[in-house]
Amino acid sequence: MATQSLTVERKSQIKEQYFDYFLILDFEATCKENEKIYPQEIIEFPVIKINAKTLQVESTFHQYVEPKVYKELTPFCTQLTGIIQDMVDGKPHLEETLQSFDKWMLDNKLLGADTKSLFVTCGDWDLKTMLPSQCSYFKIPVPKYFGQWLNIKKGFAEVTGSYPREMMGMLSSLQIPHQGRHHSGIDDCKNIGNILVELLHRGYVAKASCSNR
Ligand code: AMP
Ligand code: MG
Ligand code: MG
Repeated sequence: MATQSLTVERKSQIKEQYFDYFLILDFEATCKENEKIYPQEIIEFPVIKINAKTLQVESTFHQYVEPKVYKELTPFCTQLTGIIQDMVDGKPHLEETLQSFDKWMLDNKLLGADTKSLFVTCGDWDLKTMLPSQCSYFKIPVPKYFGQWLNIKKGFAEVTGSYPREMMGMLSSLQIPHQGRHHSGIDDCKNIGNILVELLHRGYVAKASCSNR
């Protein structure tokens, strides 16, 4: 498979990492403006696999997901995420998407005991709140591998000494150009990946910051 380069490329001393791969994950979900939605459901499920030694993107999992309860996306949600109704209608539901994702993990040799990978998210919402709450609502088991992740904000704070509010602030502080559309899950993954790569170039050693285990 052809590899893609992330934007941030330069020679530097990257420290040895505890993990073989970083799996950048950023869900988008049904939403309303200024109002909670229950149950909130994942509508975009993207994960980018980055090789921890080469820092190259080796594979991408990307699936739009049909919500089961609030099937109609609000205009606010479409405006925020860029996801229109046609992109989710007829798509697999979460349960099937989790099965496809598990196959992707297997095909990418990420499930073997000798391969170590770390999910990387921006904030703890994706894996602490969103996935467990939707899985609980629909009585779907949460795969064990989602039980531990790195919140990139913690890595940013460790390297720079200041705790960031959100992704755009980290990009501008690190002088990384923003790619694509903010709140598109796949584009958010690319930008979070670029932040991680920059932190690694600055000597960061990635570790899990949060765990549901
Ligand atoms: P993000 O990864 O920041 O793009 O956001 C993930 C999800 O959080 C979105 O798909 C929305 O469901 C929700 N979200 C983000 N920002 C807002 C907002 N300003 N108002 C309501 N929901 C939001
Ligand atoms: Mg996010
Ligand atoms: Mg996002």
